[in-house]
Amino acid sequence: MAGKTLKTEAVVLRSIRYGEADRILHLYSASRGRIGAIAKGVRRPKSRFGGRLEPFFRLDLLLHEGRGELLTVTSVATVDGYPRLRSSGPALAAATRACDAVLRLLDSAEPNRPAYNLLCRYLAMLDDRATMERMASLEAGLSFRLKLALAAGFAPELASCVRCGEAEHLVGFSGAGGGVVCASCEAGSFALSEGGHRFMVEAIGRSLAEVPAAEERELRQVERAIGETLEHHAHVQLRPAA
Ligand SMILES: [Zn+2]
Repeated sequence: MAGKTLKTEAVVLRSIRYGEADRILHLYSASRGRIGAIAKGVRRPKSRFGGRLEPFFRLDLLLHEGRGELLTVTSVATVDGYPRLRSSGPALAAATRACDAVLRLLDSAEPNRPAYNLLCRYLAMLDDRATMERMASLEAGLSFRLKLALAAGFAPELASCVRCGEAEHLVGFSGAGGGVVCASCEAGSFALSEGGHRFMVEAIGRSLAEVPAAEERELRQVERAIGETLEHHAHVQLRPAA
């Protein structure tokens, strides 16, 4: 066969039935960012790929790269299948939202190791009975989104007013401005409480395991702040966070 072989680790973001027995895969890979691939004959009972080409599977892959847009899967080994995550409704929903956010926000063929590691870490904690429930919460989902936005280069500005630079009296958030605004510049922004602001600063500064706390009302402000920032600056729309 002409073409070359790519060896990489990747997470299956989406897996779509194609034709008689094939699957089209949206993969997020460690070494080349987003990859589209086809797995041939995978839905036949005796396929050597087994049931591993399903969403969330973390795989070691060999892919053949020909002239077409899609790479062809030639070999698969499981790094982690996250089986416990699949048996919990909330964890499954959280993993689905996380993979959907990666799918929408990271569409380039450039490797982004921080984003890849973040996704794998989040899936691993959703799969661990000790952290599963906490990680499936709205707080953890929003922390994941903030860290993903940071990894993708779209973190909101939180330290000072995006319009005038004022570091005090930060009372609102502007999606168009991509960050917090002060009381004098709040026209066109929405209210961001102190708790919502603090949540974002802490979520970005801490590890994913140390999820900050906030009230529901504040979390909805945070969701809106992330959503509007990504709409204005990355031109993507995320699904509701929970
Ligand atoms: Zn200002």
